[in-house]
Amino acid sequence: MSILNSCIHRHWFFRATLIAAVLTLACNAPAQSRTRTELTFPDLPGLVTLRADFHSHTIFSDGRVWPAVRVEEAWRTGLDVIALTDHIEYVPHKADVPVNYQRPWEIAQASAEPLGIIAVRGAEITRGEPPGHLVALFLTNVTALDQKDNRVATRNAAEQGGFLFWAHPGWKQPDRKSVWYAEQGEFLSNGWLHGIEVVNGDSYDPIAHQWCLDKKLTMVGNSDIHDPIAFEYSGAPGDLRPVTLVFAKARTPEAVREALFERRTAVFSRGQLYGEARFLEPLFQGSLEIVGPEIRIPRNGRALVQIRNRAPLDFDLRLNPKLPELDVDSKVVLAAGKVSLVQVRCVSDRVTGQQEVVLPCKVLNLQVAPNQALTTGLRIKVNYDRGH
Ligand SMILES: [Zn+2]
Ligand SMILES: [Zn+2]
Repeated sequence: MSILNSCIHRHWFFRATLIAAVLTLACNAPAQSRTRTELTFPDLPGLVTLRADFHSHTIFSDGRVWPAVRVEEAWRTGLDVIALTDHIEYVPHKADVPVNYQRPWEIAQASAEPLGIIAVRGAEITRGEPPGHLVALFLTNVTALDQKDNRVATRNAAEQGGFLFWAHPGWKQPDRKSVWYAEQGEFLSNGWLHGIEVVNGDSYDPIAHQWCLDKKLTMVGNSDIHDPIAFEYSGAPGDLRPVTLVFAKARTPEAVREALFERRTAVFSRGQLYGEARFLEPLFQGSLEIVGPEIRIPRNGRALVQIRNRAPLDFDLRLNPKLPELDVDSKVVLAAGKVSLVQVRCVSDRVTGQQEVVLPCKVLNLQVAPNQALTTGLRIKVNYDRGH
């Protein structure tokens, strides 16, 4: 082959490769963007587990996307529920987008129905501290919140049957330490305050977490997203948006509202779950499955137990390593969406036959209160092999 021919040949080959690469990208791109990342949390007995984000902004206030995009993002990132909660008092795009408090939800709703997403009509009453920012959900008339007097705006939200939560209480406070003002106490006693954001964006607020427990308020965790969601969260494992888990009697807006007022929620953020033990315990147990054949442990021998964790977060366990019959590793991580091996060793000569064993453990990243891990047990069935 002459040098000239070789050059032409290489040139042709390069072009063909380039065209093939472009075609592959063009074919793959739509398929990738039309996939949903499933957040596989189990349902609880008699209740369906819904994944929600109750705080988001659109172009109708200071967000940078059209309301329908929030719905598409919600579907793609594994949510069932998205609330549109534009600011009432802050509408910086009004030269381009006319102020219309009712429109964000109406636009979102048209996209939500075909995707099976529940869109919630909300708004953020945006005042200085105190009382700070208050998000109202399940409104019928958002325009009624456009009031000079903050108390009138808040009362109007509550009188519509709205669910009201205090957004990012630590924002703008020294060291982000949340402060409970007299106004919050007043709103609470008036029935105008039902929940608090325990997580806003990437910030977990232990003070807000404790307030929810002490004052019997609902825990929520939300993105408060302004940019396109992919700017903040890649969607890769470990880089997911914060989610409020709602334990509802049905997959309907009214059931979501009922669950919020009844405080049946937990918060998932950055590999942690925050919530009451009555929810975290069944979430943990319902995520696990023992894989493989019967677990046989020979005398003075060991067995490898395979445990599948379907949840989208690792479970970081600390086990009590010394049991009368068994030795186990004290530190075990059950990886998200994977099967993990747990080694158990028989240390007794006396036990025989099949036994159900509960290995007591703490799950460090499941917090029932600030710095308080869920205490539970890992249930396994073992067959002590007495053969010689
Ligand atoms: Zn805010
Ligand atoms: Zn906000």
